[in-house]
Amino acid sequence: MKQPARNFDVIVIGGGHAGTEAAGAAARVGARTALVTHRADRIGEMSCNPAIGGLGKGHLARETDALDGVMGRAADRAGIQFRLLNRSKGPAVQGPRVQCDRRLYREAVQEMLRRQAGLAILEGEVVDLTIWGDRVVGVELGDGIRIGARSVVLTTGTFLRGMIHIGDESRSGGRADDPAAARLAERLADLGLALGRLKTGTPPRLDARSIDFARLVEQPGDSEPTMLSFLSSGPMAAQRSCYITQSNQQTHEIIRRNLHRSAMYSGRIKTVGPRYCPSIEDKVARFPEKEEHQIFLEPEGVADDTIYPNGISTSLPADVQEACVRSIRGLERVRLLRPGYAIEYDYIDPRSLRPTLELKAVAGLYFAGQINGTTGYEEAAAQGLVAGLNAGRAATGRVPVQLDRADAYIGVMIDDLVTRGVTEPYRMFTSRAEYRLMLRADNADRRLTGTGREAGCVSDARYRAFEYKCRQLAAAGEVAASLRLTPDEGRRLGFEINYDGMRRSAAELLAYRGITVAQLAGIWPELAGLDGTIARQLENDACYAGYLGRQRSAAAAMRREEARALPRDLQYSSLSGLSAELREKLAHVRPESLGQAARIDGMTPAALALVLAAARRRDERRRA
Ligand code: FAD
Repeated sequence: MKQPARNFDVIVIGGGHAGTEAAGAAARVGARTALVTHRADRIGEMSCNPAIGGLGKGHLARETDALDGVMGRAADRAGIQFRLLNRSKGPAVQGPRVQCDRRLYREAVQEMLRRQAGLAILEGEVVDLTIWGDRVVGVELGDGIRIGARSVVLTTGTFLRGMIHIGDESRSGGRADDPAAARLAERLADLGLALGRLKTGTPPRLDARSIDFARLVEQPGDSEPTMLSFLSSGPMAAQRSCYITQSNQQTHEIIRRNLHRSAMYSGRIKTVGPRYCPSIEDKVARFPEKEEHQIFLEPEGVADDTIYPNGISTSLPADVQEACVRSIRGLERVRLLRPGYAIEYDYIDPRSLRPTLELKAVAGLYFAGQINGTTGYEEAAAQGLVAGLNAGRAATGRVPVQLDRADAYIGVMIDDLVTRGVTEPYRMFTSRAEYRLMLRADNADRRLTGTGREAGCVSDARYRAFEYKCRQLAAAGEVAASLRLTPDEGRRLGFEINYDGMRRSAAELLAYRGITVAQLAGIWPELAGLDGTIARQLENDACYAGYLGRQRSAAAAMRREEARALPRDLQYSSLSGLSAELREKLAHVRPESLGQAARIDGMTPAALALVLAAARRRDERRRA
């Protein structure tokens, strides 16, 4: 066999959101890393709308940042509008969102990666994986050059056998202007991996100079911006507003008349798309009673006249797309810069992966991002970080790191993927997390930065900033716990508290709806000089203090089950007492712990007891 031209500890294939985080994390843990991607100038490209964060996704972005990932810092540098979604609800379900300048985001990611020690960026197409026995040992590029590695992370997004559809036209492509990766897809199929097809879509892009903004509702950013990264102190780019308009009966009529020409409805696309991000033709067909659908007109940059109309992704022919958008208020004379399209692509069944994101069948080969059946930049980035961290640690002889469902939304997502698999593109929601009062976007650093530091992926600078914040917070917490008042005193100050004779501390008062640090600082000057971030943390911590006990004991019970490892070679197919369906699911997932087995769809307490008994018998036989 031809010798590799170069050797690395880790090779990451793909420079999207998963690939950039994987490469950064692997290099940060000290692995000599190469990022191989089609074009270096497209590293960090946002294939769809240039926005990071939102509900559930903001949690993932914050957690990625807490582990020293690049996404949060790049989004803050490129941020042209900052909004905290769900502001009126509790802090556990609030989601920071940043509208980015597409070019600035890409440049920020590329600059951070260029400055990362131990990371080489190579341009090229990976067409093959070099596998010896059951272990990956490198990759082969399109020009025949081989590169050796101890671990390989595959993050090829929508590129594997990508097929772009616009109306009745279909062509091969990984995303607009990029080729699909056909040879690598064939290689993965040859490996016997379970591959499926999914689809996603994007709307047409509009020319801002042809939009009548005066007729639309302006949506400015928050007056007090919430940054994505724990290291950022404020916006760095010029700020811009978004605008809101709606589709109407005329738009819907045009769509209905042309539904047969949509790639989705003409039968050209047979795969499933993201249910929570439907195309406009889907919305019209599925909700005929709705008279309008909201559309957010989002700028793609400060010095860029491109507008992303969020809410009308489509695979209708270009002429129908134009007629549709021109039927919408403010867009009557709009120019389309490029049509929307749908894309179908291969994904691998994520149940083929371990919770470290390593492929069960091939040691050293990790998968992350859209290829695992997810959708969204944040989902991709968070998986990339975990895969890169573990690939880097494995390549340098260290044990893997896993996050569980009570540690992080990242743990929830990976557990959902590897245990349940996907039937449609997976996106994060706060409702997926059972311990969500513990897993807030605002406390992601306190949950994860220490773990990241131990794992080796958190820099000195971030860790110093984190320790400083923790000291400030602890000191403020002590002060807030020491300041007390009686119900009488509280009532006189206008607080709605019971006359129960209990003296309440400032920290306890903060748990009451509407009581803020700023208000209490009027009574106790000791609280007056607190930094805004620390004050908000005190308020958020107080909000859930009374509920956390129950969640912590539930998490402890989950972790006990998690700690009961199941043998990897347990013979589920011959386990009597289980239904055929459960036997098949167990054999497919091969759960690594009793906890993971418990979360397989359809699992019952009785079936779980049988699995546990089989594991015990197997352990006894081993010991005998
Ligand atoms: P990508 O960002 O796709 O990156 C893949 C990278 O791999 C690229 O750099 C590519 O050049 C490289 N690559 C691929 N094959 C090879 C190879 N063989 N050799 C070397 N390099 C290779 N998400 C949402 O949340 N909402 C949406 O509405 C939405 N709409 C979308 C619409 C479209 C048309 C597309 C394409 C994506 C959309 N997404 C949407 C998804 C979002 O863009 C992805 O989830 C995210 O970009 C996935 O990140 P990734 O890193 O997995 O892959």
